[in-house]
Amino acid sequence: MIQDKHGRVHTYLRISLTDNCNLRCFYCMPEEDYEFTPASRLMQAAEIETLARTFVDLGVNKIRLTGGEPLVRKDAADIILRLSRLPVKLTLTTNATRVHEFIDVFKEAGIRSLNVSLDTLDRDRFLFMTRRDQFQRTLDNIRLLVDQGFHVKINMVVMKGLNESEIPDFVAWTKKEPIHVRFIEFMPFEGNRWTSNKVFTLQEMLELIGSRFEIEALLNGIHDTDKKFRALGHAGTFAVISTMSSPFCAGCNRIRLTADGKIKNCLFSKTETDLLTALRKGEDVVRLIHQNIGQKAKELGGQFDADIEHIHPEEIHNRSMITIGG
Ligand code: SAM
Ligand code: SF4
Repeated sequence: MIQDKHGRVHTYLRISLTDNCNLRCFYCMPEEDYEFTPASRLMQAAEIETLARTFVDLGVNKIRLTGGEPLVRKDAADIILRLSRLPVKLTLTTNATRVHEFIDVFKEAGIRSLNVSLDTLDRDRFLFMTRRDQFQRTLDNIRLLVDQGFHVKINMVVMKGLNESEIPDFVAWTKKEPIHVRFIEFMPFEGNRWTSNKVFTLQEMLELIGSRFEIEALLNGIHDTDKKFRALGHAGTFAVISTMSSPFCAGCNRIRLTADGKIKNCLFSKTETDLLTALRKGEDVVRLIHQNIGQKAKELGGQFDADIEHIHPEEIHNRSMITIGG
């Protein structure tokens, strides 16, 4: 069992396969000319499998693959199929641009649910936010996933003054489609020019949605990061991930493994432990895992709190999101 000093048991591992991506979302990958980590410094497929198996032996029962964009990695299919043999619920977060090449792999691996990022329903805004012209491909692949019966969650990062006016359009999308839209409060990471006045909060979202739709709150699990709702009569649901204005750290069961093999006990943790180097040297990885999780801060990596107006982003020590794995 992997437990921290606050009594939280950790059963959910998020593995970043790469810090490479075919989009350039500015809030995630601030520099257009960002240099990706060379392949030799990334965990290799067999190393990912070994580390994942170690975590499973310690009680992990759910693994999410992320990145960067996990599906740009050349051996993504091999990794997915290796991990599908472990006794875990396997899932994936993707920008969907390559999903059409992987449908059969997902089915073979028993993947039933995927999170897909889409921050706008406007082609020009998509181009502005991602710096790549992949809007139609993304929409087509979301359609493909829904038609093929996958449980699809759509992640929309909401930034005040940029795309918050589209929130009702995303809720309207759930009327006929059995999709689950999640509105994510904009979070601060290295270089992404976060300021508190760009955060559109949970409360503001509910006021905006409530002015257009009649909504009901749904039940949430203790480990859920999203607060779930449904507009009455809609086939799909929506939820808010209120990391900034109303954090959910008390029920946190998540561990992150970066593509270069470092364990992070929180998205906002300052410290990391290098499991890959230890594995390559034949050292005791289990001891390092317990040590790292044991030190987990109670809330938000110990770096700030929900009083967002008083956060100084320049004082937050962290990698950019693309190098962590969201
Ligand atoms: N490439 C995949 C994708 O875009 O879904 C997986 C990796 S991406 C880093 C994972 C999630 O983190 C995406 O939903 C993305 O929108 C979210 N994300 C990235 N930077 C963020 C930020 N600054 N604030 C909130 N969410 C962010
Ligand atoms: Fe790539 Fe996903 Fe980051 Fe966008 S959010 S740059 S798609 S990793």
